[in-house]
Amino acid sequence: MHGTVTVDETLCKGCALCIPVCPKGLMRVADDRFNARGVHPAELIDPANACTGCQLCATMCPEAAITVYRAAKVA
Ligand code: SF4
Ligand code: SF4
Repeated sequence: MHGTVTVDETLCKGCALCIPVCPKGLMRVADDRFNARGVHPAELIDPANACTGCQLCATMCPEAAITVYRAAKVA
């Protein structure tokens, strides 16, 4: 199943807990910008659309900064 995630960068505290839990290795800390909290926010890097929408990253996030979207199954 295909999925994707968004990160609310205003909520992200840059703890990086979401990175090792992704079974696809799709999350990373953005090194090109800071958010208003002064940290590098997490971001999804998924050029091959490998995200399954498993929600492990969102479940791990202590700030509830990650929203997961999963493709709906079409009958
Ligand atoms: S939903 Fe799952 S596969 Fe997608 S980025 Fe999060 S942990 Fe990785
Ligand atoms: S777990 Fe949440 S707060 Fe921590 S880096 Fe990832 S998105 Fe940001």
